[in-house]
Amino acid sequence: MTLREIEAKTILRKHKKIDSWFLSHYGMNLYRGCAHNCVYCDGRSEGYYVNGEFGNAVAVKVNAIEVLRRELNPRRKRTPFKRSYIMLGGGVGDSYQPIEEKYQLSRKALQLIHGYNFPVHVLTKSTLVKRDVDILKEINKRNRAIVSFSFSSVNDEISAIFEPGVPPPSERLETLAFFKKEGIACGMFLLPVIPFITDAPKFMEDSIKRASELNLDFIIFGGMTLKVGRQKDYFLKVLRKNYPDLLVEYENIYKENKWGEATGEYYSSINQTFNSLAKKYKIPRRIPLGLYEDILSENDLVIVMLEHIDYLLKLEGKKSPYSYAVYSISQLKEPLSTMKDSLQTLKGVGKTTERIILEILETGSSSYYQKLF
Ligand code: SF4
Repeated sequence: MTLREIEAKTILRKHKKIDSWFLSHYGMNLYRGCAHNCVYCDGRSEGYYVNGEFGNAVAVKVNAIEVLRRELNPRRKRTPFKRSYIMLGGGVGDSYQPIEEKYQLSRKALQLIHGYNFPVHVLTKSTLVKRDVDILKEINKRNRAIVSFSFSSVNDEISAIFEPGVPPPSERLETLAFFKKEGIACGMFLLPVIPFITDAPKFMEDSIKRASELNLDFIIFGGMTLKVGRQKDYFLKVLRKNYPDLLVEYENIYKENKWGEATGEYYSSINQTFNSLAKKYKIPRRIPLGLYEDILSENDLVIVMLEHIDYLLKLEGKKSPYSYAVYSISQLKEPLSTMKDSLQTLKGVGKTTERIILEILETGSSSYYQKLF
């Protein structure tokens, strides 16, 4: 393993529009590169500019905490922070990969997040996060904390092939059970399922069933992308060695596509399988309202609920008009409650959307949303 210590200019990644998958306006990568070395990781693709051989080279942002302290300090900020979860994890390096044991950047980042009074959402594949249960409980008491783990399935043997550097799914599930017992909300990111391997209904059902048995608060689902270049080449090399018969199937669904996406037919078929299984086990397919209703501003609450409605309708194979309204609302400077009488002047807001927005503004929820959930 090659280790490089680097200095970062910024740490907080900002999203102008709230990310309704994670309920977050802010995220961070404390490390570049990831020793977990998942075969499908898109951090391997050229677009992320991770230097060296992915999986074997990690850069540590040694000044991360100093920079983050500056960035989180409200007195140094011209525009106020938007209230939302701060996302720790994802991107181009797991925040709890082995080197975290030595540098403790994630632990120190959590302490800062707590000090500045933010909720946090941790997404990882590493059981090392258990070390920080004390601080996560403190954050959860004053604000909120969510701990999520990602899985491509709950099968330990398949995981050993595609996720060679991480604890097996059985240990990740045990860790989720541990956090649930500690009173912290937990989610499963069933993402990505691996085409023709872990996307089989049997494997998906095993995962969803385990999530339901552990009483997890939600499952976020997604298929795999394979960007042409390093990511695709490496994945196909491992596939050729372990599942040579599947190469032709992959050629059929991964055509030339800038984002490495598979065909729409493929994604809609796995989405349908996921949807019916999640409904069978009655597990939320998005982070539920109870985990964010008291955190977000009214505009963000409306944006997230409309985006969740949009996602749930599309999962059912239905059309949804809500993304236009979401875009218009995300551009607003004023709170929606100041324009209750003129909502229909917003692009994409018709009578039905107006009704949903007004109900959210008045009650903090939407009966239409609740019905879909
Ligand atoms: S844990 Fe996440 S960031 Fe690390 S290699 Fe796996 S998919 Fe990539």
